[in-house]
Amino acid sequence: MSLMEELRMNEESLLRTERLPHVWCPGCGIGIVLNAFLRAVMRRKIDPNKLVVVSGIGCTGRAAGYVNVDSFHTTHGRGIPFAVGIKFARPDLNVVVFSGDGDLFAIGGNHFVNAARRNHDLLIIAVNNFTYGMTGGQHGPTTPTGAYTTTTPYGNPDRPFNIPHLAISLGAPYVARWTTYHVNQLQNSIYKALGMKGFRVIEIISQCPTVYGRRNTMRTPLSMMEYFQKNSIVKNDASFEELEIKYNGKIVVGEFRNVQGIPTYEERYEDIIRRAQNES
Ligand code: SF4
Repeated sequence: MSLMEELRMNEESLLRTERLPHVWCPGCGIGIVLNAFLRAVMRRKIDPNKLVVVSGIGCTGRAAGYVNVDSFHTTHGRGIPFAVGIKFARPDLNVVVFSGDGDLFAIGGNHFVNAARRNHDLLIIAVNNFTYGMTGGQHGPTTPTGAYTTTTPYGNPDRPFNIPHLAISLGAPYVARWTTYHVNQLQNSIYKALGMKGFRVIEIISQCPTVYGRRNTMRTPLSMMEYFQKNSIVKNDASFEELEIKYNGKIVVGEFRNVQGIPTYEERYEDIIRRAQNES
């Protein structure tokens, strides 16, 4: 049964079908990620009234407009601070930030670092297509060294962020990486993370054939998916060095951290307030 059929059968559809067709290019990977996310939400039986989706700016940022729950399409890089505010105001809600690599790790990079350090109770779905797709294919904070983009026509000199390494080093309790080829693993990972607390990070390597793939010898969605299929290695205990993504190299995927019971920022804050009230 297709997602659309399944959703139609649901009394409360999780898609704003009146807003379709979507803006994404044919073969873009963002739809695969959104599909996996919605299926995981349905499997978890999360009350749509208790789910909030927040995104920033960019191709992935448009996802918030298609989900039929309270959703916020925020300013560039500010998805995480908006989500922190929502969680503070309504700790009973499941708050998910669904955004792209440029949004989360360039202009929003400082928010990511500090929210992870504090262990805010948020699920971060980070779609990494190695480029700024919406604005024409500039290099971004996760573009592999040597990759060709509109702003690096002779190859990218920068070193990209190693997202799982960054998240683990900041103490995030759940960290995983998959590609859009790993649909079942991705859905299972989101399902698992939705049932946990704390700053949970799932990076999804996704194809952008339109502006990234065609400059890097992968002109079609299929050629990018074949690259993911042939070059991904599942290794849950990978070293930080192995998690680095090299241009046209292997992509190590898996579940790299899964630790329960670390107090969240919201729990610590509640605890401080309770103790202060008891002392006064
Ligand atoms: S530009 Fe790239 S990331 Fe954006 S919708 Fe098109 S294929 Fe997807």
